[in-house]
Amino acid sequence: MTAIKDYFQYVGNQLLSISVVDVIDILLVAFIFYYVFQFMRKRRAGKLLAGILLLIVMLLISSITGMKALNYILTNLFSMGILSLIVVFQPELRSFLEKVGGSTFRNFRAKGDQEGEIRTMISEVCTAAQNLADKKTGALIVFERATKLGDQIRTGTILDANVTSYLLENIFYDKAPLHDGAVIISGVRINSAGCFLPLSTNNDLHKDLGTRHRSGIGMSENSDAIVVIVSEETGTISVAMEGELKRGFDKSSLENLLNQLLLNDSAITEKVFTQIKDRFSRKGGNSKDED
Ligand code: ATP
Ligand code: MG
Repeated sequence: MTAIKDYFQYVGNQLLSISVVDVIDILLVAFIFYYVFQFMRKRRAGKLLAGILLLIVMLLISSITGMKALNYILTNLFSMGILSLIVVFQPELRSFLEKVGGSTFRNFRAKGDQEGEIRTMISEVCTAAQNLADKKTGALIVFERATKLGDQIRTGTILDANVTSYLLENIFYDKAPLHDGAVIISGVRINSAGCFLPLSTNNDLHKDLGTRHRSGIGMSENSDAIVVIVSEETGTISVAMEGELKRGFDKSSLENLLNQLLLNDSAITEKVFTQIKDRFSRKGGNSKDED
């Protein structure tokens, strides 16, 4: 009876001496063992696992019973075994490490993709602006940023198309049905064309400025959008932002400004990220061809 009492007292004392660190320690070891066993069970390591377990058992027996020779060989085999395991499981380890670092790598690649797509889109817009200016064809191109332009987009015709200079020049060609109004670009895609923009309420604007320029400025007063305007009368390329109009751009100065404004714009990069993702999932699903 006293033996049982002593035993329970001993167990009680032991339980009372367990600290938080011990609990975390045990949980971590259990966690590691669980994952190692799961990993090995799922992979071709199944048979190897049995071998390793047998080796451990033999090592324990040899050390308990004092079989020196066997213990010596097994201990050395074990240290060599660790190295061999790394070599044998190199593909598994690689895939595991890739999985761990995968998200960072993907984000990095996605950022690079976005930047490339935005640069290409800007370059296409600038080529179109210069060509349209040379031919004195009027144009109005809006870059949607954080402020959603649903109200304006709905007044036009949805295109959801890649931005190319040919398409933009085609849209603004003065005998084309969609040439009147503005093109709105969301992310790196032409969202819609023939859109009606709000006119500026600023009475101090130069009297020479007609409705194309006033609507471009108006859009930039009402939102954080950036608007590129090509004048049909003079062939001048202007940019409206925050209610101000900057005039006299050419292809390269326009490209510099747009790169500065749009490349690090989180609203645009987020939109582009979604568009890239959509495109890849569409390709994966093979449901619809790209335009
Ligand atoms: P430009 O220098 O090209 O002549 P402008 O500022 O003098 O430009 P207008 O000559 O009045 O402007 O240009 C008229 C064109 O501007 C219309 O045909 C139409 O395409 C476009 N436009 C006018 N008002 C709007 C608006 N509210 N939203 C979108 N586009 C508009
Ligand atoms: Mg005019």
